[in-house]
Amino acid sequence: MPVQEPEKTFDAGFFRRWLTTAAAAVEREADRLTALDSAIGDADHGSNMLRGFRAVTAVLERESPAAPGAVLVLAGRQLISTVGGASGPLYGTLLRRAGKALGDSPEVTPAELTEALRTGVAAVAQLGGAKAGDKTMLDALEPAVEALGASFAAAAEAADRGALATVPLQARKGRASYLGERSIGHQDPGATSAALLIAALAETAATGEVTE
Ligand code: ADP
Ligand code: MG
Repeated sequence: MPVQEPEKTFDAGFFRRWLTTAAAAVEREADRLTALDSAIGDADHGSNMLRGFRAVTAVLERESPAAPGAVLVLAGRQLISTVGGASGPLYGTLLRRAGKALGDSPEVTPAELTEALRTGVAAVAQLGGAKAGDKTMLDALEPAVEALGASFAAAAEAADRGALATVPLQARKGRASYLGERSIGHQDPGATSAALLIAALAETAATGEVTE
């Protein structure tokens, strides 16, 4: 191994591993996501995420896009077309817009990845009309992207903290907002699944470091 390593870049395989790691996390945590959604929503967030990420896994078994951007666009499109709930189009937009931002380069730098996710998160905010503090997935995604410049682990911690910080908030967007003040005291399901996706990203990055 050279003493002076070149800057680490991420190829299509990295993004495939991220998404399949995320799909495994969704399989493990689906019941918890549904339990959270049963408190302030309609008890389908776990099944929505399962349906979406099983479809993502399936399409990635059939197709192998050569570029990171194409992997994300393919996965995003799959989420949009398979998930009926609000989270499908929102996560689909996150991945699709991040993928488009990456273009067709075969390798992306950490800075390019951060910028692409920032673009995707901004697209989620625009589509859903929500902002940080509204008790949505953005409460995990926005701090995660901000921390990503520091490290993947910092991003995962920021996402976890952001999800936990939704507990005392009153929901202002999505189904939970219909509950008004009764949404206070519960963790937002979408912020929780967003933290899982960012944890999967950090796990994928950490695993790559060990095996390469
Ligand atoms: P649905 O609300 O249609 O049943 P899900 O249960 O799958 O869909 O997803 C609910 C999650 O989606 C919420 O916990 C919240 O994090 C997220 N969400 C809902 N509406 C919005 C929005 N307008 N902007 C951002 N996130 C949203
Ligand atoms: Mg729901």
